[in-house]
Amino acid sequence: MLKGKNAIVTGSTSGIGLAIAHSLAEQGANILLNGFAEKSAITALVSELQEKYAVRVDYSPADMTKPNDIVDMVAMCDRIFGRTDILVNNAGIQFTGTVDGYPVEKWDQIISINLSASFHTMRAVLPGMKKRNFGRIINIASVHGLVASANKGAYVAAKHGLVGLTKVVALENGDFNITCNAICPGWVNTPLVDKQVADRAAAENKDPQLVSQEMIGEKQAIKRFTSPEQIGGLAVYFCSNAASTTTGSAYTIDGGWTAE
Ligand code: NAD
Repeated sequence: MLKGKNAIVTGSTSGIGLAIAHSLAEQGANILLNGFAEKSAITALVSELQEKYAVRVDYSPADMTKPNDIVDMVAMCDRIFGRTDILVNNAGIQFTGTVDGYPVEKWDQIISINLSASFHTMRAVLPGMKKRNFGRIINIASVHGLVASANKGAYVAAKHGLVGLTKVVALENGDFNITCNAICPGWVNTPLVDKQVADRAAAENKDPQLVSQEMIGEKQAIKRFTSPEQIGGLAVYFCSNAASTTTGSAYTIDGGWTAE
């Protein structure tokens, strides 16, 4: 379905981004991976995707806190694949704490990676997409783009901002066959959540398995994790013809978290 299309997936060395890279590659898209990992792990990922799906795969080391790196990443995709058709803004981090005790450098880092990076990537890809009259942009927001939780001030602010920015980009580019949508997951089993489970298990002196069940139970009607692969499936949908008039949406995949 996506044969001949070229995709950048930020933060795709792990978790949701990696699963999205697999899902898009499975549909035939060439992939520019990005994110942090050991050099050997990155080489292995590039080979795995290339061999499994017979698509072109490369890697950009761009740091999403650095606007110049982001410009270089988009230029790299255009240079090696010819153009950028699909952009998935996925890179993100978490740090929990109350607003009055929140470290200023953590606030800046989360706003930079979870929000501003998407401005910089979209700013860089949109002129080419407009010229070619095609683009699919998917922003990985969160239920925290729609509702709040205590202790997640920076994350909630960044994700609400990302949902808003998604709508603006959708409105500005409707005449260019460019769609821009946000995906809003609830709990997904990835290293980002593993850390939150481990921190809470240590603080409450409880078994991590029990803590993860408690965390899901506090928020979701369906009391199990969404898998990264399920988010990959939704990303493929947003790139499909079936979704060609879906734009500016904030689509939940959250076990009913935001239904209440
Ligand atoms: P993860 O920790 O498994 O992966 C994060 C990825 O981002 C990694 O590849 C990492 O190397 C990369 N990254 C981090 N800082 C970066 C930087 N400065 N520059 C470039 N890459 C960087 O986390 P995940 O759970 O897969 O999260 C992916 C996205 O999904 C995030 O935006 C997160 O907010 C969002 N999300 C996750 C959940 C969940 O429950 N896991 C729920 C809702 C939304």
